[in-house]
Amino acid sequence: MLRRAQRAVFPASASASASTCAPASTSAPAAPAVPVVPVVPAVLAALLVAALGSGCSAGSGEPGGHASAKPAHGQEVAHKPGSAAARAAYAEKVRRTQAARAVAAKKWGLAKTPLAAPPPPAVKPKITTRKGFEVEGGENLPPVFTTVPVKGKKVVFLTIDDGSEKDPELLRMMSELKIPYTAFLSDYVINDDYGYFKQMRDRGVTLNNHTLNHPYMPGLSYDEQKYEICGQQKVLQKQYGKRPVLFRPPFGNYNVDTLRAAKACGIKAAPIWAAEAFPDHMEWREWDRDMHPGDIILTHFRGSDEWNGSMTDMVRHVMKVITDKGYAVGRLEDYV
Ligand SMILES: [Zn+2]
Repeated sequence: MLRRAQRAVFPASASASASTCAPASTSAPAAPAVPVVPVVPAVLAALLVAALGSGCSAGSGEPGGHASAKPAHGQEVAHKPGSAAARAAYAEKVRRTQAARAVAAKKWGLAKTPLAAPPPPAVKPKITTRKGFEVEGGENLPPVFTTVPVKGKKVVFLTIDDGSEKDPELLRMMSELKIPYTAFLSDYVINDDYGYFKQMRDRGVTLNNHTLNHPYMPGLSYDEQKYEICGQQKVLQKQYGKRPVLFRPPFGNYNVDTLRAAKACGIKAAPIWAAEAFPDHMEWREWDRDMHPGDIILTHFRGSDEWNGSMTDMVRHVMKVITDKGYAVGRLEDYV
């Protein structure tokens, strides 16, 4: 039934690929090019100062990466935010993190060492629904977007959906590489092993809502959609102790009732995606088939039986693409 609904939406393609995953309610909009603001050193310095002033650091963008950012007791006032000492301490921390990453990259067979993400913003950007993705009556409902406003910084975000494949190697690999990612989970594929995602949470990954049963949401009534979203909120709260604020509609399909229901369940934003990663290729939403600052990348918890490789193969491939294009992976929760 799910597949039938999906096929009805995407008659030309059996898969919900990035290039065909525009909401059914909108014709695939001509992708507005994301303006690339050149990052001049002065801007970088300002960002650095802002990040230090807010107590943020590059390390806070990484699972478990915050530990070394904490000064020893009594050293709290050692470095004034923005001071030369603070900048030096920050640079030293980035250097150490990158050295550890280089070792992990070799161990896990990555073509290159992943780049260090820029410091997260002191204040999260205001996010609005992407042009062409609005629904009537959707004002004041959670925004739907494919790209996060990052002021031209070469940072993208990695998100992993559903949850059927539970590969322990993925947990170790991402922790050792210090690559942040965000999960969107559906109960029907995680309920045979909630423990796997507890380990993920304990490694600093935020677990978000992707419905109970992964239905085609616009085919359901408001009440049915609310059951799917609020039901999954309850499951995630019970299992992992936290009620998510992010929701991703299955297949990227939604209508105004989806967003109304999401809001009623406590959801603040509905990030979808600009590109989709597979173990052997990428699929792009934009006409230029390229990456842009702030793009959200989708991939799935899938095994070799479902696609052409393992989860770690997928990470190797997507990280090669991201790094070759000069991008770093940031932590979505630092921005959204
Ligand atoms: Zn999904």
